[in-house]
Amino acid sequence: MNRFSSRRAARVATGPRAIRGALFTLLLALLGLLPSLGCTTPKPPPRPPLEPDPVVVRPPWLDKDLSWETLVEIEDWLDNQSTAHNADLVREARLRLNEGRVNYSRLDLDKGTAPPKTVRDRVELARMGFQQVLDDPSAGQASKTRAKLGVQSAVALLDSPKASKLDLVIVDRSRWKAKPARTDRLTALKGSWSRITVHHSDESRSSQTGGSIEESEEVARLIQKFHMEDPEHRWGDIGYHYLIDSAGRIFEGRELRWQGAHAGGPGGVNNTQNIGICMLGDFLKRPPTPAALKSLELLIESLRGQYKIPATRVYAHKEFTTTQCPGPALSAWLKNKYD
Ligand SMILES: [Zn+2]
Repeated sequence: MNRFSSRRAARVATGPRAIRGALFTLLLALLGLLPSLGCTTPKPPPRPPLEPDPVVVRPPWLDKDLSWETLVEIEDWLDNQSTAHNADLVREARLRLNEGRVNYSRLDLDKGTAPPKTVRDRVELARMGFQQVLDDPSAGQASKTRAKLGVQSAVALLDSPKASKLDLVIVDRSRWKAKPARTDRLTALKGSWSRITVHHSDESRSSQTGGSIEESEEVARLIQKFHMEDPEHRWGDIGYHYLIDSAGRIFEGRELRWQGAHAGGPGGVNNTQNIGICMLGDFLKRPPTPAALKSLELLIESLRGQYKIPATRVYAHKEFTTTQCPGPALSAWLKNKYD
């Protein structure tokens, strides 16, 4: 726009036509105001839809003693967050749930009733739950103190030797279709396990390179059948407590509540309080595989930790009697590690 046209535009805006336009606009505005000046009933402003007042229901878990069922109930309650959950209750639920998790984890570790990995995961969950309370700006001092204690006990539990115990996956008897034990021919464990003896199976059918789990299960069944049915044996069950195949799979043998049958001696005296582990394979012909040795090491460490068995009480079969079992390589490995 140049200077001339801008001056003209200013003149037009203040001319008679502009004044008429302004009057017309004012009239329209007055007409629009009429209803609110009393001609009709004014409409009330729209109200937001009514929301029911939140009703805080006292959750049943609040009055229950600590139990697994109560913990599950609290978990469900927390999962179903609703308006009826107020912040104080949610905090209380978190504290109770995680205090319960830590308590049960401690019991599980003491009694060995759950795999350490499972327990560790649960304690880790608890630790995070306590942390949530600590991070909650609306949490009171009492809640924070409980949460702080909770974190401390969770961390202590995670650091405990029992929780850091190596995890073993054991193929249980039902998986390899073990025959039921003839318990009338078994001797119950007296006292506690105090030593460990390692064997080889002298089993030509067990794979040298690992093989499938089905093959190893078949070998376990054959050994059990031999130990239970051979006229010179006729034992109540497979003689060993554990078997390890070349792939490093660990199989549950005779249950640990029974004394084993593997180390001989007059009247089987060498079996007393002696856990028997059999490495599948003929180690007079070849050495055990690294995978099998790794699992053997994990198993021995786990059992030693659980039963407080000193390293010097881990034996090769040949230390008890005239035999080459478990072969030169494995005997040397054991001597090197546990003597
Ligand atoms: Zn042996």
